[in-house]
Amino acid sequence: MNLDTESLRVAFAVVALTLAVLFYFADFRSTRSPYSAWWCVSLALFLAGSATFLLEETPYRWLANPLGNALLVGGAAAIWASARSLRAVPATGWMLAGGPAFSALAAAMDSPATNPFAGDLVFLVMMSLMLGLAARELALGGSEVSRLRKSTAIAAAAVSSFYLCRLLAFIIDGPRGSWYNTYVGSAPTTLMGMAFLSVASFSMFALSSENQTKILRTAAAQDGLTGLLNRAGFLDAAGDRLRVDGNHGALVLADLDHFKSINDNHGHAAGDTALKAFAGACRAAVRSGDLAGRMGGEEFVLLLPGVSALKAQAIAADISDRFEAAGAGAGFTMPTVSYGIIPIEEDAADLEQLIAAADIALYMAKSLGRNRSIIGASYT
Ligand code: GH3
Ligand code: MG
Ligand code: MG
Repeated sequence: MNLDTESLRVAFAVVALTLAVLFYFADFRSTRSPYSAWWCVSLALFLAGSATFLLEETPYRWLANPLGNALLVGGAAAIWASARSLRAVPATGWMLAGGPAFSALAAAMDSPATNPFAGDLVFLVMMSLMLGLAARELALGGSEVSRLRKSTAIAAAAVSSFYLCRLLAFIIDGPRGSWYNTYVGSAPTTLMGMAFLSVASFSMFALSSENQTKILRTAAAQDGLTGLLNRAGFLDAAGDRLRVDGNHGALVLADLDHFKSINDNHGHAAGDTALKAFAGACRAAVRSGDLAGRMGGEEFVLLLPGVSALKAQAIAADISDRFEAAGAGAGFTMPTVSYGIIPIEEDAADLEQLIAAADIALYMAKSLGRNRSIIGASYT
């Protein structure tokens, strides 16, 4: 069986076009995510790149390699950008344009009008590099990386390795060598490219919905005004944390004092500003492993694993200091804050009961004159 490269390239272009259209309508139109946009760009570049090589049989042959190589490397760079956007890390301009520009330059300086392999060495290095970077990006994230992401990373790594093998064969056997042409030349690469684009589009689609689910779940657990966890989100996360990390630490309930008078004297928007400033003070004062949530209204909650009640009291004082300091920028005096603190001890980690106990301590802080923190007794 003799598969000629031209027909394969036409087939490749048709596959890339079909996938681009399908992906655009099935995914990008509903998600509008950068991730999905980059994948569409990538498919479009692969389509344009493979079409460019049809120039090889025309008087514009000199354009085929510089432009075709640059477009294909651009397609691989867009896969990398897509993978980066999954981790919300944007791609910079030079990262995307550098590889294609270098590939175009290398081909242009390698007699593209007469040399059918003009710039191919740089092209192979760049393809392997870009796909390798995409694989690395997909695999980053430690234990949080889903199986789906891992398998997509493996697929990208496999294609990156294929280009590496092609590079070695190109150097050792030469582009006219029989081994190179049989196993890693244009025809087998185009076939493999088709298979890869189909598999990757399928995985990318699945990854996209996995990502959307994650975004929705995060949004459902978040308080819209302050960005902290909402009540349900906090209860969920704190329950998990207590089960995993054992039962040591402190739970803190915070309630802004006479908050109603901020709304009454300065307006509801000022009240919202104060709530956001308090959330900011909490975020700044706690460690990354702590949990902070808004229980509702002007009442907040913190779970501080491994922290003693006295240390929690110091953290509460720190939050109040930061909150007071935020008043300077807001143009009105921030209210004081009362705290109820409960030490979390062995076998005493029922969340609802902890919160009820902290509420009693908070009530004491209010009745003793507000603007203070009271450490309540841990219940038994
Ligand atoms: P205390 O010191 O006893 O806690 O008095 P307080 O005024 O802070 O408590 P109270 O429960 O009487 O009032 C809470 C106020 O918080 C009433 C409500 O209008 C206001 N509030 C609740 N949620 C929001 C919000 O999202 N934005 C704003 N601006 N105000 C809110
Ligand atoms: Mg209050
Ligand atoms: Mg209140």
